[in-house]
Amino acid sequence: MCGARPHAGCHKPYTCIRINQTMNILDKLKQNQILLSDGAWGTLLQAKGIKPGDCPELWNITHKNDVLDIAQSYFLAGSDIIETNSFGGNRIKLTQYGLEDRVYELNEAAAAISRKVAGNERHVAGSMGPTGKMLLMGDVTENELYETFREQAIALEKGGADIIIIETMSAIDEASLAVKASRENTKCTIIVTMTFSSDMNGEYRTMMGVSPEEMTISMKDAGAHIIGSNCGNGIEDMIGIVKAIRKTDDKIPVIIQANAGIPELIDGITVFRESPEMMASFVPELIKAGANIIGGCCGTTPAHIREMAKVLGR
Ligand SMILES: [Zn+2]
Repeated sequence: MCGARPHAGCHKPYTCIRINQTMNILDKLKQNQILLSDGAWGTLLQAKGIKPGDCPELWNITHKNDVLDIAQSYFLAGSDIIETNSFGGNRIKLTQYGLEDRVYELNEAAAAISRKVAGNERHVAGSMGPTGKMLLMGDVTENELYETFREQAIALEKGGADIIIIETMSAIDEASLAVKASRENTKCTIIVTMTFSSDMNGEYRTMMGVSPEEMTISMKDAGAHIIGSNCGNGIEDMIGIVKAIRKTDDKIPVIIQANAGIPELIDGITVFRESPEMMASFVPELIKAGANIIGGCCGTTPAHIREMAKVLGR
């Protein structure tokens, strides 16, 4: 149904498809807008009672209102981009739960939930995480990886995602295949982020030894529209990563989704110590370094996003 004001050529508002769709995120970035993504989903699912060993993506069907509630909390916090509960929703991961026949259903549902909350003005980023299989080790073939990501990306777009966000990547080959599979089979804007940590010399590398500079070149080659980093670091360490990316490319939009600090295990419970105020205080410096989209990863909550929104003057 057409929810917009009547527009030219629209005589049957009950049948026409709303044409006033969300402005493309790349156009917003071209206007130098700084955009806010959302924060952690896993952390909030745990707060809602998900247990270790439960399949988070199955909650898109069995606990739909809880998942909707998480998306809603980020909408209210001011996120311009709402992600989806589909990080582990690829066929290889879902096979571990015996859910390989439900890949399409679970991803489509994930995107539909976030789109219901986001409406047409804000963006839905379909989350795709690593498969856990390594090409290097011969665990999987390139074709299998491509097909795995293609299947997930198509379902996320069908459910309403206008962005695919490929996250927490550490290997160039897997990330490139995910970018290509999404770019070649959907109309979505493609974001890819890798997870870095700093070595003894203060250089940033992924678990597979990839530097931010190498990521920038290879992910642009693969066809990514937006690149960046998520997870692995608190927000302060992300500044050096943005600078490293900007040394290689001063144009491509950069997204940063930091953890609320490095996780600490206290009495068997994982604790993230960076407060909303502390994280938000680094936002101006991240923007100055060249970040265009800022959100959070593990341990961040709607309170973190709200505080970042305040710093952005919203
Ligand atoms: Zn994380």
